[in-house]
Amino acid sequence: MKRVYNFSAGPAVLPEEVLKEAADEMMDYKGSGMSVMEMSHRSKVYDNIIKEAEADLRELMNIPDNYKVLFLQGGASQFFAEVPMNMMKNKKAGYIVTGQWAKKAYQEAKIFGEAVELASSADKTFSYIPDCSDLAITDDMDYVYICENNTIYGTKYKELPNTKGKDLVADVSSCFLSEPVDVSKYAVIYGGVQKNVGPAGCVIAIIREDLITDEVLPGTPTMLKWKVQADADSLYNTPPCYTIYICGKVFKWLKKMGGLEAMKKLNEKKAAILYDYLDESKLFKGTVEKESRSLMNVPFVTGNEELDAKFVKEAKEAGFENLKGHRTVGGMRASIYNAMPIEGVEALVKFMKEFESKNLKENA
Ligand SMILES: *Cc1c(COP(=O)(O)O)cnc(C)c1O
Repeated sequence: MKRVYNFSAGPAVLPEEVLKEAADEMMDYKGSGMSVMEMSHRSKVYDNIIKEAEADLRELMNIPDNYKVLFLQGGASQFFAEVPMNMMKNKKAGYIVTGQWAKKAYQEAKIFGEAVELASSADKTFSYIPDCSDLAITDDMDYVYICENNTIYGTKYKELPNTKGKDLVADVSSCFLSEPVDVSKYAVIYGGVQKNVGPAGCVIAIIREDLITDEVLPGTPTMLKWKVQADADSLYNTPPCYTIYICGKVFKWLKKMGGLEAMKKLNEKKAAILYDYLDESKLFKGTVEKESRSLMNVPFVTGNEELDAKFVKEAKEAGFENLKGHRTVGGMRASIYNAMPIEGVEALVKFMKEFESKNLKENA
């Protein structure tokens, strides 16, 4: 068996320990005589799996009792619509556009009401987080929306926007569980799990209880009403059972690793190895303003497209997969999520140094 270092932005690397455990339980989950893939979502044994996953997540994130945890389908992209459908009572909301995912959410909201662009970093190819200390937030806005970590451009909010008392909704798909968060500062925190938590197929949404009501926009499909999902404890219909089971294992792994405080330290250490090298390299450079750098997604370029392509190709041959940048931005991107071991980042930087010394010489 050969495992590569997988720097994919998503679906992404999972902890090996979790994969091994899942393999061990594949044919017979805890004496049930069947795989988790084969069991009823209404069975006692599955009920324990989903309940335990929620309990572990609540413990990890220190989720207050007045927040519900929902396990949903449709990806983060469907949730872009669920936010206005469930929250746009006044049909008006503010959006901060810091990249492609924020922009898609903003455009989706326009289907349902007036979405106002409060700030944007499009002027510099989304390479920074705009100043959000004094935005033009009006009293009639139902909420303020951000994408907290921009997977494609590699930026992250270091401070939450001043929402002037309005509810904050955050897409945390690519920084979920990468560091501690104060849940009470948000009205809704949500993300697709396939970046930093588990396999594709599930969105976890942490929603303040008072926002879960029957008062939704007319035409909202039953499945997309948070109240319906909350009343059924995420079992209104068949949930993505296996994905939730793996997420539960990842939560246990995170607890064993020391929780989110420890993950933050580790993630900072991993990111520093890469950023420090990018800052001193004569060939590679990071594309993001220093104050806005993500700990999870690190885009970089050589400034020469051919050399970028050569790097991606040679890196792949050396066992470093998925380093090509997003198709809309080019260059390279290393996603170094929780499950990427520090050895993977060290090995990548070593390889980059070798590539630099070879290619600087050849270009001289
Ligand atoms: C990947 C991603 C999405 C889209 O997720 P899907 O589950 O594929 O819809 C949305 N937001 C962010 C921040 C992402 O990284």
